[in-house]
Amino acid sequence: MSVYKQIFLDLKLALGENIKLVAVSKTKPTEDIKELYDLGQKDFGENYVQELADKYTELPKDIHWHFIGHLQSNKVKYIAPFVELIHGVDSLKLLEEINKQGEKNDRIINCLLQVHIATEETKFGLSEEELLQLLSLINTTQLKFKNVNVCGLMGIASFTDDKQKVRSEFKYLKSLFAKYPQFSMLSMGMSADYKIAIEEGSNMVRIGSLIFGERNYNQ
Ligand SMILES: *Cc1c(COP(=O)(O)O)cnc(C)c1O
Repeated sequence: MSVYKQIFLDLKLALGENIKLVAVSKTKPTEDIKELYDLGQKDFGENYVQELADKYTELPKDIHWHFIGHLQSNKVKYIAPFVELIHGVDSLKLLEEINKQGEKNDRIINCLLQVHIATEETKFGLSEEELLQLLSLINTTQLKFKNVNVCGLMGIASFTDDKQKVRSEFKYLKSLFAKYPQFSMLSMGMSADYKIAIEEGSNMVRIGSLIFGERNYNQ
């Protein structure tokens, strides 16, 4: 299975300069990633730590690796030396561990706080109240967090055909994002809903199956 090059090129063109494309390559072989890399794509997203670490080892070192899954604190150390952006930070404990590993690796690790915007209960993320609490804590103890850079928000909309519902969830996340002028990145939108996400103000989309084809988890 190879990548949908034309769809990728059309998508890059449609997104333009101001919306970052994170090509979600989870479960896909390194050859597929290399194909897009050769077309100029530098940002790739993965959601399993081991898979990300393996691909990092095998592929060119100028790739920007995004961790987009749910990250367990005890696994931060495996990606801390090289990860470009961690999208799904949703607890103080995790942020503290990222900071600790950032310090060990003598780097500042970019993070997005994940907000729970979907109605499904299985989704990770902070409530608005938890977000406010975490941000005020970060602001009042900045010295403590000198090796993390919280640069924006991330959210996953409900899996539903109800476009209005998806739109209102993105609208809500955008409204939270707008409250914090220090934030620059708003990561929202996947293959099925990226167009709505962009209309609602996303500047970073995470797109997998549209360009890499459907994932087969049984392989
Ligand atoms: C898998 C995944 C994506 C990409 O999903 P597609 O529907 O294949 O585009 C985006 N974001 C997260 C958090 C994911 O886990």
